[in-house]
Amino acid sequence: MLTELLRSIDENRESIIGSYHKLHNIPEKAWEEVKTSELLSEALRNSGFEVTENIAGTTGIIGVISGSEPGPVYGVRADMDALQFMMEGKAVNIHACGHDANCTMVLHAAQEIAKLGIKRGTLKIVFQPAEEALGGAEAMLDSGLLSDVDEMIGIHLRPIHEARVGEATPALLHGASCIISAAIKGAAAHGARPHLGINAIDGAAAVVNAVNAIKLVPTTPYSVKATKLIANGGANNTIPDLAEMIFDLRAQTNEAMEQLIKKTFNAIEQGAATVGAAATVKVIAGVPGAEYDDEMVNRAKGAIQAVLGDVLGPITTPGGEDFHYYATKGKIKTAYIGLGADLEPGLHHPEMKFNLDALITGTKIIAYNIYERLIG
Ligand SMILES: [Zn+2]
Ligand SMILES: [Zn+2]
Repeated sequence: MLTELLRSIDENRESIIGSYHKLHNIPEKAWEEVKTSELLSEALRNSGFEVTENIAGTTGIIGVISGSEPGPVYGVRADMDALQFMMEGKAVNIHACGHDANCTMVLHAAQEIAKLGIKRGTLKIVFQPAEEALGGAEAMLDSGLLSDVDEMIGIHLRPIHEARVGEATPALLHGASCIISAAIKGAAAHGARPHLGINAIDGAAAVVNAVNAIKLVPTTPYSVKATKLIANGGANNTIPDLAEMIFDLRAQTNEAMEQLIKKTFNAIEQGAATVGAAATVKVIAGVPGAEYDDEMVNRAKGAIQAVLGDVLGPITTPGGEDFHYYATKGKIKTAYIGLGADLEPGLHHPEMKFNLDALITGTKIIAYNIYERLIG
């Protein structure tokens, strides 16, 4: 039956590529994936899925089919949003991160599986909004509709320097990222009487030095740097009493990120204190890094092996993905496949192109994973 499944996917090549073109031609930015969501929910419904739409007040959808025997609740997630570019003064949406490809592969794998019917457990197909805006995964989790999901996989195309078409990794290792804001509060004074004030710029300078001196265990890649500094007393001869700062933090593991955040808070507070200023520090955004379940990764490895004959080792990428909230916040066992597609010149490039053969390969890998878990 497994060979039949893979053959059926090959036979449906034109329909798979057709779906991709349809999705590619309706690029919608984060939280606005209305047409995309309609197209996907209709396709799922026509294939026998019970579909819930407008999840958590967004464009999110979940399609469900169940087997007759007990088994795991297995999730497959794809992100739906395109990116917005400014071109000649006009805002243009383009699927430059390949989320149209992710949706195509997950949709067709779901349809092939639905044709066979699942034997045990439940299959939940999750089309998530707003990955690029980094809020979609959390919105899907907050809906409560994924609280019964035990396991989940995802898939994303990789740029050519990471993997060629016909190659794939069962473990794409995204790093954690975090944005911290700091308000450094001093005291205003006349430029002629600086001893009566506290210069917020002095505070900010001390903070930058303190943050730049942070060290973590050097075997895990990490970085922290100031990316914004706004301080202005108004007139050129007044001592500014407020400096607003932003810091961008990266770390390859969630553990390292936790330490980095703690040290950054401390450096900002203590740095400001060296000049008598006070600091208000906040985490304003971020995503966790990859945290995979060994068994899930092994099963994904088996699927890649079966479809491609060979498996790439883990690929480390400094980029972030909100998929990892499903593991850290949702407590779901996950694996995430990085799929080679001869993709050039790169993700998030408005002229991004890839070899469409990857869509067939990716559909097979996803379908194989589901088959193994819920049918075979
Ligand atoms: Zn992206
Ligand atoms: Zn992406």
